Amino acid sequence: MNKYDVLKKYYGYQDFREGQEVLIDSILRRQDVLGIMPTGAGKSICYQLPALLLPGVTLVISPLISLMKDQVQALNQAGIHAAYINSSLSEAQISKALRLAASGRYKIIYAAPERLETYEFLQFAQQARISMVTVDEAHCISQWGQDFRPSYLKIVQFIGKLRERPVISAFTATATEKVKEDIICVLGLQTPRVLVTGFDRKNLYFAVETPRHKEKYVMDYIQEHVTESGIIYCATRKNVDKLYDKLYQEGVAAAKYHAGLSGEERKRNQEDFIYDNRPVMIATNAFGMGIDKSNVRYVIHYNMPQSMENYYQEAGRAGRDGERSECILLYSPQDVMINRFLIENKEQNSGYTQEENAAVREKDEERLRAMTYYCMTTGCLREYILRYFDENGAEYCGNCSNCNSEFEEEDVTEAAEKIIACIREVRQRYGINVIAGMLAGEDRAKLREYGVMMYSSYGSLKGKSETEIKQIIRHLLTERLLITTEDKYALLQVTDLADEITDGTRRVILKQVKRTVEKKETYDNRQKGNSSKARKSDILNSRGLELFEQLRQLRTKIAGEEGLPPYLIFSDKTLVDMCIKVPVSKEEMLRVSGVGENKYKQYGERFMGVIMEYTGGIHEKFFFGEMIDFGEDTTVERMVNGKRKRASGVKRSEFLLTEEQAERFPYADRYLLTELAEKLNELRDAEHVKKISGAEIFRRLRDEECVSELFQDGMWKKVISEKGLENGFFMDLRISKKGTEYEDLYCDRKAQKKILNMVCRDL
Ligand code: ADP
Ligand code: ZN
Repeated sequence: MNKYDVLKKYYGYQDFREGQEVLIDSILRRQDVLGIMPTGAGKSICYQLPALLLPGVTLVISPLISLMKDQVQALNQAGIHAAYINSSLSEAQISKALRLAASGRYKIIYAAPERLETYEFLQFAQQARISMVTVDEAHCISQWGQDFRPSYLKIVQFIGKLRERPVISAFTATATEKVKEDIICVLGLQTPRVLVTGFDRKNLYFAVETPRHKEKYVMDYIQEHVTESGIIYCATRKNVDKLYDKLYQEGVAAAKYHAGLSGEERKRNQEDFIYDNRPVMIATNAFGMGIDKSNVRYVIHYNMPQSMENYYQEAGRAGRDGERSECILLYSPQDVMINRFLIENKEQNSGYTQEENAAVREKDEERLRAMTYYCMTTGCLREYILRYFDENGAEYCGNCSNCNSEFEEEDVTEAAEKIIACIREVRQRYGINVIAGMLAGEDRAKLREYGVMMYSSYGSLKGKSETEIKQIIRHLLTERLLITTEDKYALLQVTDLADEITDGTRRVILKQVKRTVEKKETYDNRQKGNSSKARKSDILNSRGLELFEQLRQLRTKIAGEEGLPPYLIFSDKTLVDMCIKVPVSKEEMLRVSGVGENKYKQYGERFMGVIMEYTGGIHEKFFFGEMIDFGEDTTVERMVNGKRKRASGVKRSEFLLTEEQAERFPYADRYLLTELAEKLNELRDAEHVKKISGAEIFRRLRDEECVSELFQDGMWKKVISEKGLENGFFMDLRISKKGTEYEDLYCDRKAQKKILNMVCRDL
């Protein structure tokens, strides 16, 4: 198998994403690599895929226990043998896993860095053939980074103890130049291939809003996105509790998370969120590390965070699956106060000198300022973010709230001149409140106390309100014509740039939102290869959305049966692709992005069943825009063997068998309905007769009152009636591929006969 086969077979993808192939090729040539890619870029495949092609086993070192479990589950789902070894397992489980590992059972093993120095693990590692060591979250090795972990330093010693030096691959989403050098140096990477892909996340829509009532905004938003999963970040525990209570009262299925809850409660709430039992999470920034939920469709910041670093990391938890998702920041000037307070009251690092602590504080203030400017800029938000992280973005991205707004321009150069003159006149000794009040000619006790009435600038902008003046001042701050002192007084200062205004070489233009332009991210974008920019509702028409919803429900049901998070069954992106391609055969299903062989084997039939039932096998267009494959005919009959055949007017009939065909039915002691449907379909005349699905048989049995469905413990369960029992239907345990047991409906020979009677014309 080559790398393309592996990508298709196990992951169900047709093409590599930016950067993936380069890294994979290097690894396969046994060259060390360092991949620096943003969240959701697809780092996992960069080491998992070569792991499958390399002879021995690959050891993945990761600090996040919850993430390991998720990754291993996902690999097992894809049909790849993998295991994890960390402190969440018992000693006995670890021994067993290592025994299996030694016998060559796994291609990929995840381990926490602490594990490397245990005797048992080392024993295994020294005997096994380890082809590659992958260091995930590699920035943890750097003392310069925020998340330094001393245990990461042990990786190098560990590698030194192996029989043969494996190829080393390292990955991270966050790396400054310093951290990057550290990783290469400390890990001892040998002439590594270093790849840095851009930080831009094209599928994320960025917005800053200033709603009058944040609570109402959030309520409305959730109501408009009921079927979607999202995270709402608040600055404080108190805010989390308050918003949670409010949403709870309104009947929203939300969970909450902050450091004030017990460990158990946090764990439960987190799982409820991951498993989509409660799709909305309200949390402080304590939530999110190690959360790999790929179908988070929105991240709302109820309060402005303390830095762009925090913001981008938290907002970045949206849309890991590459589907369009929204990152909305709800700004109010009060947020700046809250954050300033938090910074001022931050615990000082006792290991630092006073100067060092002051430097830290200064840095914090600077970060907060940059964050505040993000909320006030009228330029492209994406460009702002990228520039902050030292990258160049286009000035217009067309996918953020500023690019989607029309602004009214106002020339405020004269007012700016007066503001600058005023600040100079008072010798830069006041903050924004005093300056604005002074210019507006206010008569407040505080102003009188400062004696600002004596200055000639007093009242020089009398025609304007304080709010308007402040807005201009904020604009001058974002343009760096003014700055504030770094202390808590934030006194306004004039920079050299301001001279450009006073000598008349620069105009100051204030942009105000006139209206928000309808987001026009439609099929046009998909054709330009920008599908990730469009939302589901821009791609799929109303029938398509309905089909999506049915597929989503099936996914939830299967997730319940298998005890897995829904997004590990199929991602949202995969479900959307199903609605576009409407697959009704194995071949077609395998063309859907995200459906590999193993996933097909496990779930393909069930999803096709839903599609068959919804479409009746007739190809209908479920998306906007042009049909590409199918010509102009909208009623294209589809052949189940994968060939499409245009048969205008001729429709295949509902499922039916002739007596002759029915005679060939292979009776057995027991069949599940899906198995039975499969046998029946093999017998039919595929040219003229549509397939039948297990679900369809179930429905017919329900109409005959042999069976019914009951909603219990959060899922639908099948129930057999008296009549059903008499006819030979029975419930028995079934073991899912994941090893979880659940009950399912079986039919014995008598029941099989009954079903044949139902579907056979002559019997
Ligand atoms: P990261 O670790 O960089 O945050 P992941 O490895 O979790 O990102 O990948 C993010 C998502 O992108 C996953 O759902 C993954 O299946 C998907 N993905 C990765 N590579 C591809 C690809 N070549 N084509 C389509 N989807 C991909
Ligand atoms: Zn933009």
